[in-house]
Amino acid sequence: MQLRQPVGVDLRQVSDGENHFCVLCPVRLLDLADAGVVADHPVRTDLHLVKTGDTYSVVGEVRLRARLDCSRCLRPFEEELSWTLEVVFQRAGKGQSVQGQGSFEEDLERIAHDATHIDLTERVREALLLALPIKPLCGPECAGLCPVCGQDLNVGRCSCHTSPTDPRCAGLRDLSHLAAEHTHSNPTT
Ligand SMILES: [Zn+2]
Ligand SMILES: [Zn+2]
Repeated sequence: MQLRQPVGVDLRQVSDGENHFCVLCPVRLLDLADAGVVADHPVRTDLHLVKTGDTYSVVGEVRLRARLDCSRCLRPFEEELSWTLEVVFQRAGKGQSVQGQGSFEEDLERIAHDATHIDLTERVREALLLALPIKPLCGPECAGLCPVCGQDLNVGRCSCHTSPTDPRCAGLRDLSHLAAEHTHSNPTT
C-alpha cells in the first residue's frame, strides 16, 4: 500500500496548525522516464501543511536536480527543476462517500473520513512536468552545433563556419550596430 504513494504524508503525525515535512523519493518511482526526466538524485519535496479541523492545506516546494539534454548542442547537463504545488485535502463526513477522487484538476481533494495518509505522488509528478523546460539549454550562450558538419561550436570552430545566415548571429550584429550608433550620437561627451 505504501508503495502506491512514494510521496505521501502520514496524517497521524500531523498536529493542528502548522507542520513541516520533507519527503525524498527516487525519481524512478514517479514514472517520469517517458517525459525524459532522468536524475541521479532523489526528488525532494518540502511540505508546509496547515491542519484546520478536517482540512489539510498543503504547499509543497518540489525540487529535482535532473539530467537534461541541451536542445542546441545535445550535450547532457544538470539543472535544478523546481515548482510549487498547492492542494487542499478535506476529509469527507462520516458515512459520506469519497466521490470525485478522479477530479485531479482541482486543487481540492476529498479523502475518506478515516484516511490515515494523503498521497501527493501525482501532484509531485505533475509539478516536475511543469518545471521541465520546453527547450533545455546547457547555458544561455550555448553556441550549438554547426548546421553543416555538426561540430560542437562550444568546443571549437569548424572550417565551414563562414555562413552569415545564422539568425542568432545576425541579431547580435544588429545589436552591436545599434550600440555603436548610440555611443556616437551621445551628445553629453
Ligand atoms: Zn548546449
Ligand atoms: Zn561546420
